Amino acid sequence: MVKNFLCVILICFGFSCSKQHNDVDSTPKILVSIAPYESFVKAIAGDTVDVEVLIPAGVNIHTYEPTPKQVERAIAAKAWFRIDELFEKRIVRALKEKNESMELVNLQDGLTLLPSHDAIALGEHVCHHHGAEDLHTWLSPRIVTIQVEKIYDTLVSLFPEHEAMYEKNYHVLVNSLDSLDTHIASILAPYSDSVILVSHPAFAYFCHEYDLKQLSVECEGKDPKPRDVEAIFLQAERYHPRVAILQLGFNNRGAELIAKKLDIRTLTFNPYSADYLQNMTRLAEAIAE
Ligand SMILES: [Zn+2]
Repeated sequence: MVKNFLCVILICFGFSCSKQHNDVDSTPKILVSIAPYESFVKAIAGDTVDVEVLIPAGVNIHTYEPTPKQVERAIAAKAWFRIDELFEKRIVRALKEKNESMELVNLQDGLTLLPSHDAIALGEHVCHHHGAEDLHTWLSPRIVTIQVEKIYDTLVSLFPEHEAMYEKNYHVLVNSLDSLDTHIASILAPYSDSVILVSHPAFAYFCHEYDLKQLSVECEGKDPKPRDVEAIFLQAERYHPRVAILQLGFNNRGAELIAKKLDIRTLTFNPYSADYLQNMTRLAEAIAE
């Protein structure tokens, strides 16, 4: 509302806003699956592209089904920065059929993916997983640094006229990701080998980079049964997690129960926040608190 109001004023004074509402189609559209990548694309490309995020805030991405309307809106995109989630596989063919020239960039390509639940290896496994790969790679700023290079390359190949500006912005972005990584590492250094309790196991890459372990209440993507919660409780009792991380859109009851019983602090964390730098700093600070 405020933004629209400001736009009206600025346009009246002869300035143009980032979003020109009357002329939506003139700015090329880029598709991303989740909001953190919106911020990376915007950091590089600024107002030269419009970014559309496929996954709305607060939903479970692993079970999400895009609406036909969303698919329809996505068709015009010049490129799609994907993370290889299940929902993507359901719509990728429809999109490609209607827009052959859409550039599909799988940001997981070339990475060494961890198996799901890898970081739960706290003595005996409570939850066994069957070979699925963990796709929450963006929770490692070091991996994001690799992924934004792909984003940069793709954007330059699509819009070479902006190369100089993209290159400058790309270096600023990489520097801020480096600083974020150094900052998180220094915040978490004293807590090396600590355990975090999580309602959903999204933190394997984060834990891998910063020498933590996640103890997940959710098992194989399903809500935990009372006996699973009991088994995790016994592990939590043993390993004293520093914090319990609850996640919007997921079942947090088990984690909340265990946190309450063992007097563990809780943090509600949204891995899909568009404000990546601040969100990740907040996560590290909450673990260190
Ligand atoms: Zn997840």
